[in-house]
Amino acid sequence: MTRKSVKRVSFYKSLLVACVRREGSISRTQLGRSTRIRMPLISALTRDLIARGVLMESGRKSAGRGRRQVLLGLNSRHGFVVGIEFDLYWMTAAVVDVCGRIVARRRIEMPCLPTRSAITEALLEAIASAIRESGYEPKALKGIGVADPGVVDTQSGTTRLCSLLPDWHDVPVRDLLTSRFGVPVLLDENTRAKTLCEHRAGAAQGIRHLLYVDVGSGIGCGLIMDGRLYRGHREIAGELGHVRVLENGPVCQCGGSGCLETVASYPALIRQARAALRDGARSLMAGRADALTMADFFEAVRGGDRLALGLWDRALRYLGEAVANAANLLNPELIAMNFNLPEADESLWLAALRGIVERRVIRLPGQDLPVRAARAGGDAGAWGAAMLLLDRLFEGPLVSQEVCLPVTTAKAGFLFTHYSAP
Ligand SMILES: [Zn+2]
Repeated sequence: MTRKSVKRVSFYKSLLVACVRREGSISRTQLGRSTRIRMPLISALTRDLIARGVLMESGRKSAGRGRRQVLLGLNSRHGFVVGIEFDLYWMTAAVVDVCGRIVARRRIEMPCLPTRSAITEALLEAIASAIRESGYEPKALKGIGVADPGVVDTQSGTTRLCSLLPDWHDVPVRDLLTSRFGVPVLLDENTRAKTLCEHRAGAAQGIRHLLYVDVGSGIGCGLIMDGRLYRGHREIAGELGHVRVLENGPVCQCGGSGCLETVASYPALIRQARAALRDGARSLMAGRADALTMADFFEAVRGGDRLALGLWDRALRYLGEAVANAANLLNPELIAMNFNLPEADESLWLAALRGIVERRVIRLPGQDLPVRAARAGGDAGAWGAAMLLLDRLFEGPLVSQEVCLPVTTAKAGFLFTHYSAP
């Protein structure tokens, strides 16, 4: 075979595998219709892909007049990836098979002193132990996706800066992990990974314009605009936490002051509650000032504690105004809120935020803008990072080729939508 035809066959295989992944399970005839590759070639290529363990026969379906067609699917045992996410408090690693299902997870507390070397050490250890616990052969590892709390450069795989973890800046995360594990590494921002996960597997499936708001150790938002993740000019879109809400407010980690994050993030709420307790405020949280956690705080809110309720209402007011401003700017179809803790039950915030959005967001008569709780769960960041990586692994080879085939099915029409070309 000439070099050109080798390249073409490799492209055809990538296209077939990407189509099978998109559809879940698909017959050879449907593959032929979707890709316009000739049937004899499809038969030969799928035979080869099955022999290599990439694809497998996954069932049969009726094709009329008593005929039954064999369906093809991805072989989940072919390999796995690790998705990992971290913030101020937790690091979560998820082992995800090539079909996108989580098969094992590991959650560890972040180091008390989150220095650059301590975070690096924790990352390496969490990934290695997740691989050990996965039940897969380590050599079946296809790549690692990292969801980082900072501002990242996805092209170079570097974390530029991180307002939550001041020592975590200019870190070549991709090179660091590639040299240790010898596989492709994708670095992205954690709210963006959670947004993608919510869009694929949570409350925002089928939504084309999504405003996803992530509240926890920081506050950020992720955007799906016209079906695609929106990143902005330098990939810094979504810094909702640094929208200014207070004149002369507290100094923020970003260098500004009065940012939303200084009022409504979890560390800000803890700080405000501690200060009030030290000043002698009467509260259910009294006596716990030094060891106060957000679980204690939400318990106090639920118990009708005046101090906790006052701080929480104020945080929700500022958060609601910022979300309404973003919605007026972007005209989303859905607002999904993620409060990151099981204790932050939607009974504590949904009505308040819906009320503000109702009053403040401009809509046409009869049109609704739903506000909902995110559903993808505590693994969303790690899972989303794995999904971003799987997209890159399966569809990257298609984007980088010069050959371009017509793709006709509706689902296959979504190819190439979730990342930029390598
Ligand atoms: Zn700020």
